[in-house]
Amino acid sequence: MNPHDWHFFSKYVYDSNVNSLELLGTIQAMDLDLDKLRLDADSIPGELKAARDDKTRLLLESEKLRQEHHAVRRKLSQAELELASLGEQLKRAEHDQQHSSSAKEQGQYASRVVSLRDEINDLTDDSLPLTEKLDVLNAQIEDIGVLLDELEPKLVHLESLDEDRIKDLQAQYQNRQNERDTLAAGVDEKVLRDYDTVRKAKKGIGFVTVVAGKCGGCKVQLTPNLLQRVKAGQFPVKCQSCGRILAPST
Ligand SMILES: [Zn+2]
Repeated sequence: MNPHDWHFFSKYVYDSNVNSLELLGTIQAMDLDLDKLRLDADSIPGELKAARDDKTRLLLESEKLRQEHHAVRRKLSQAELELASLGEQLKRAEHDQQHSSSAKEQGQYASRVVSLRDEINDLTDDSLPLTEKLDVLNAQIEDIGVLLDELEPKLVHLESLDEDRIKDLQAQYQNRQNERDTLAAGVDEKVLRDYDTVRKAKKGIGFVTVVAGKCGGCKVQLTPNLLQRVKAGQFPVKCQSCGRILAPST
């Protein structure tokens, strides 16, 4: 091999390293775009979130009111059954009073009638607030039903907008990912693997520029040897501290 060839070879290696550096820089920019697209797809728009929260809150409120309604209804049914039974007893006592054979018996039935009437009055008084409570609960449940009915079409619309938004982001993501994979095929597999590993471990950044002799990622002062190698265009050179792949400062 003559010196000319050597020169050509070293120039080729240098150029290919420069290309790899540029390529990795582009790949990282695309990876950061992909990260952002993923974040965008995962983040729920404020209006949709608020509408979903409203629906959950209204359903919970409605469920709570229904349970309360059920409990009051049960109490009222018990009171109604009791009233019916007391009514029967009263009728019997009145009948027995009219048909009693002695003054003593009549007196006993009369006081039984009075006591039953008192009991019926008390129970009727106690049931009244329950009936009123049921009316209030019915009105509240109805109000929530109206709010839910009003909310539903709005929510359906927002959900459908969000599905479109996510589909669009997924399509963008796939295109970007394909472009990225095509470019990545031009980078040495091991370098790419190292870059991916450090990127995952280091907040998405696996490739940094040297800034004033320091790693642009972790800011550690780089050893003179590493700085020399980066400056000479070697590739890949990794930060001795964080392992990120280093590019010379531009
Ligand atoms: Zn570093």
